[in-house]
Amino acid sequence: MSAARRKHSPCLGASQRRAPEIEGYNLLVSSSKVKQVASADFPTRWGHFLIHGFTTRASASGDGAKTEEAVALVMGEVHSGSPLVRIHSQCLTGDVFGSLRCDCRQQLEMALAMIAELGAGVLIYEQQEGRGIGLMAKLQAYALQDSGLDTVEANERLGFRADHREFLMPVEILKALDIQRVRLLSNNPDKVAALQRAGIQVTERVPCEVAPTEHTEEYLKTKQEKLGHLFSNRKGQH
Ligand SMILES: [Zn+2]
Repeated sequence: MSAARRKHSPCLGASQRRAPEIEGYNLLVSSSKVKQVASADFPTRWGHFLIHGFTTRASASGDGAKTEEAVALVMGEVHSGSPLVRIHSQCLTGDVFGSLRCDCRQQLEMALAMIAELGAGVLIYEQQEGRGIGLMAKLQAYALQDSGLDTVEANERLGFRADHREFLMPVEILKALDIQRVRLLSNNPDKVAALQRAGIQVTERVPCEVAPTEHTEEYLKTKQEKLGHLFSNRKGQH
């Protein structure tokens, strides 16, 4: 069954074109197109997915735009209706080590569990540590937070925007998977807006809320107050 589904994976044929079709006026878009590198069966403790590996193409203008990598975990039928989709940015400290400084791992596990429960959905995992600033800078930001700054102030002190992500690659991955409409699992209205601007219809935003712990309370408060994240169970809290 999964093999048959893989055959219908839509993005491979188009990727074989020799010269990228350049929309002269929009290099940003043409440089963010993705290439599907591999697809494989991927059983997990949540259930059975296919895992697809993607890279960005070299910039159409030829010079060394950085290649990005991401994977998409796909379960079940995602081409009828509006599948549940989570876009997750890599967080080594949270996803792997179980850090309590953020809620990334809990959100990741919640997303996989919800997709498994529905029997269908997509999780896109971007290798984009620390909202795009990189692992070393994230650790420096942690050190600044230890001296009293919040997550946004710390990033800005290091010369980064509060949220350094552009969401270009996940959009291209969704298009490569032939997914035009999604129910987006996110607390971040900027992510909803970014997808819609890029032509992906967000039919519903599904909250991905993790109960705060004593360690994440301040972090979640900053996300809510300074990054505009929406938390239904935190309304009215300061
Ligand atoms: Zn994290």
